[in-house]
Amino acid sequence: MGNELIDEAAVGRLADHLDGEVIGPHGAGYDEARKVFNGMIDRRPALIARCASTDDVVAAVDCARQNGLPVAVRCGGHSVVGMSVCDDGMLIDLAGVSEVDVDPEARVARTGGGVLWGEFDAATQPHGLHTPGGRVTTTGVGGFTTGGGYGWTSSMHGLTSDNLLSAEVVTADGRVLTASEDENEDLFWGIRGGGGNFGVVTRFDFELHELGPIVLAGEALWPIERAPEVVRAWRDYVERAPDELSTGCAVVIAPPEDFVPEHLHGRPALAIVGMYVGDPEAGAAVVQPLKELAPDLDLFQPMPYTDFQALLDPANPPGLRNYFRGDYLDGLSDAAIDVYLERATETVSSTTPLAQIVIFRLGAGVTSVADEATAFSHRDAAYLFHPILLWEDPAEDERQTASGRGLGEAMQPFGTGASYLNFTPDRDRVRDAFGTEKYRRLVALKDRYDPENLFRVNQNIVPAG
Ligand SMILES: Cc1cc2nc3c(=O)[nH]c(=O)nc-3n(C[C@H](O)[C@H](O)[C@H](O)COP(=O)(O)OP(=O)(O)OC[C@H]3O[C@@H](n4cnc5c(N)ncnc54)[C@H](O)[C@@H]3O)c2cc1C
Repeated sequence: MGNELIDEAAVGRLADHLDGEVIGPHGAGYDEARKVFNGMIDRRPALIARCASTDDVVAAVDCARQNGLPVAVRCGGHSVVGMSVCDDGMLIDLAGVSEVDVDPEARVARTGGGVLWGEFDAATQPHGLHTPGGRVTTTGVGGFTTGGGYGWTSSMHGLTSDNLLSAEVVTADGRVLTASEDENEDLFWGIRGGGGNFGVVTRFDFELHELGPIVLAGEALWPIERAPEVVRAWRDYVERAPDELSTGCAVVIAPPEDFVPEHLHGRPALAIVGMYVGDPEAGAAVVQPLKELAPDLDLFQPMPYTDFQALLDPANPPGLRNYFRGDYLDGLSDAAIDVYLERATETVSSTTPLAQIVIFRLGAGVTSVADEATAFSHRDAAYLFHPILLWEDPAEDERQTASGRGLGEAMQPFGTGASYLNFTPDRDRVRDAFGTEKYRRLVALKDRYDPENLFRVNQNIVPAG
């Protein structure tokens, strides 16, 4: 496929209009520019518009619409199912829309639609401020926020999208709209959980909260033989703990690193990772019960929030092959724990040693927001089951993805039946992810803002027409 899908004059006009760059299939840097986080995704857009401003995005959207090209929008490129790149369409790359402008007095961060969470934290932490954001620094604010967004501090402060005050959105017809509680409220409702269906968000204004620069956070490890006892104790503990405590547990293979006790190297282990969202001194007593579970490695300690936000980066490098899923659990019974540990241990031992089979405890920050307040749904779940499978060899694709699907099926009896759309690999679960009533409302919104489904490279809400 080449530029033949789009007339050359239009390409030229777009390039003339853009402060950023236009790259076609034969252009320098094309292969680098179409790469996304998941190495399994190999798509070839007809055109890549590397936008540097809102005006650039308007020009790219107009060009795509006029030439009948579907649009893929890329912020961090972390969509594991590859929703930030397309074949034969227009890729709008927002990496150049990357300013973060912090107003510490008003506690607002005006954030470009292409910003990554590491950049956001670097801009806000010097002011001792933050908003809940990605747990890996290279994840983008764009897909994360429009899909909901669970960060470590969501147990206290809600989803990232709950902290959105206002947004600038370029719609399918090329208009630039403000969406907030006071302006285009329907659009504001939809972009908080409805994904990239309604337009390209070129600016997010986030509410900021005090936190850091030092937080009490870290990771602890136990040999897998102790996991049945430790996960039960963790469940009993987190269900009584204050919302300031935000944790997840994971079955992993302990890495052969100097800081890991040698007897754990290369063996399945149970990790608990988390932080206290508040004053580290006040957190010490809250975290104490975890320490009393006598981990073989205990790295819970005061540390910079930005260090903790980067803790999982080495385990999640770009370019590997990935399978993610995210299924809500309504509780964590002893039976659920047993199935989880058996299947997760088998996966890390025999399928991929790079896997992290996670269960996050969700918190009142998320559940206390009314379900109808935003498009995001299924706030009532207590836990999120989140297998992350990573591997290098393309010959392994089928076996690894089958293993990931098998994990989902094994935990299904303990699930609510719903999935987190930012993690789910199943494109046919969009309607279920919202429920009938909300989906109907989202379709009406799609009819209003994108009736031709220009923005369809996403967890797609299909317009009625
Ligand atoms: C390593 C890793 C760690 C992760 N950690 C977390 C986590 O801690 N919590 C969590 O909730 N999720 C997490 N995720 C999942 C993450 O929320 C989604 O993958 C999300 O889509 C990533 O955002 P992005 O901007 O990088 O996405 P992209 O891949 O760039 O885009 C994904 C989708 O969002 C749309 N989109 C992107 N930017 C915009 C924009 N500005 N305006 C409109 N639409 C846009 C795109 O059209 C596309 O459909 C993680 C994913 C990975 C790979």
